[in-house]
Amino acid sequence: MPSDPSPAITLRGVRKEFPGGVVAVHDLDLDIADGEFVTLLGPSGSGKTTVLRLIAGFESPTAGTISLAGRDVTRNAPFDRDVHTVFQDYALFPHLSVLRNVEYPLRIAGVDRAERRRRALEALATVRLDAMAERAPTALSGGQRQRVALARALVDRPAVLLLDEPLGALDLKLREQMQVELKQIQRASGITFVLVTHDQDEALTLADRVVVFNDGRVEQAGSAQEVYERPVSAFVAGFVGTSNVLGSEAAQAIIGRAGSWSVRPEKIAISDPTDPVPAGRSAALGVVEELVYTGPTTRCVVELDAGGQLSVLLLAGPEDDKVPDRGARVRLTWRHDHEVPLHQ
Ligand code: ADP
Ligand code: MG
Repeated sequence: MPSDPSPAITLRGVRKEFPGGVVAVHDLDLDIADGEFVTLLGPSGSGKTTVLRLIAGFESPTAGTISLAGRDVTRNAPFDRDVHTVFQDYALFPHLSVLRNVEYPLRIAGVDRAERRRRALEALATVRLDAMAERAPTALSGGQRQRVALARALVDRPAVLLLDEPLGALDLKLREQMQVELKQIQRASGITFVLVTHDQDEALTLADRVVVFNDGRVEQAGSAQEVYERPVSAFVAGFVGTSNVLGSEAAQAIIGRAGSWSVRPEKIAISDPTDPVPAGRSAALGVVEELVYTGPTTRCVVELDAGGQLSVLLLAGPEDDKVPDRGARVRLTWRHDHEVPLHQ
């Protein structure tokens, strides 16, 4: 009977303690499927880069095992792992042309000249830079340089590509454009991508699965939708999206249950306090504290009578939308199934 294909990456009980006692990664268990696009999301210092470096073999774990495609590589050197890494700072050879940069891994592997050239040009075409093959990296923009780094990492078709904040140095417009390209390249190549970012939009946009890190531990792993709509903790609710958490007292007063609860801003409707509350909804009275206009949306921060604040996202529509004034008394309502209980 054929067994299930092994995951591309398996981490079991992986722990990394640095000299001086910093535990960067605590007993991490993680499986990443072949061909999956996973993002590791978390604040600075939460252990994301350390996890990538452990997978790549630049660090070795204090405890636990790392397998690639079912092979235990815990003690293998980086070159003995079918993995490439793309860093934020590109790390191109400035004295070599774009083409020679991309050919480099093939040259090391002893691939002959004609074949090298053919495959390097093919990789450059993937990132739409084949027309710039003869240029020096210094004659390229930041976004183009990052695409060369990507082509170089893809040229010998590794099983796994690790990307550490690869778009971090780019401005917002270029980042968004490169996000779309990364997604397309990943889909077309079928290579397993693990991308580290502290940017929640980037993490949600790119990934089949988002792994949220906090202090060296996985807080939650799931699809973008799961992590956003069903955060398991106050940390995830706050780090992924606007923190909209009802504390225990407010929750008791409004939904009749203790504990912390989260409601996403776009799930909340705003109405006049005298309007009837529709069936199946929780309701809370409050005062509009702040209005933040961004064009298509207005964020409305409401100070609740029961304590705490909730943000409400109002989307400008084709009709004239009613945005309350600052200081107005309002009623917020939301469906019971949009109340998400948090573990902490
Ligand atoms: P992130 O990539 O999420 O910002 P890192 O993996 O770089 O986080 O770091 C996680 C923790 O490990 C931090 O506290 C950091 O200071 C520490 N750390 C990382 N590398 C080293 C090292 N080589 N020596 C000592 N401490 C380190
Ligand atoms: Mg990092």
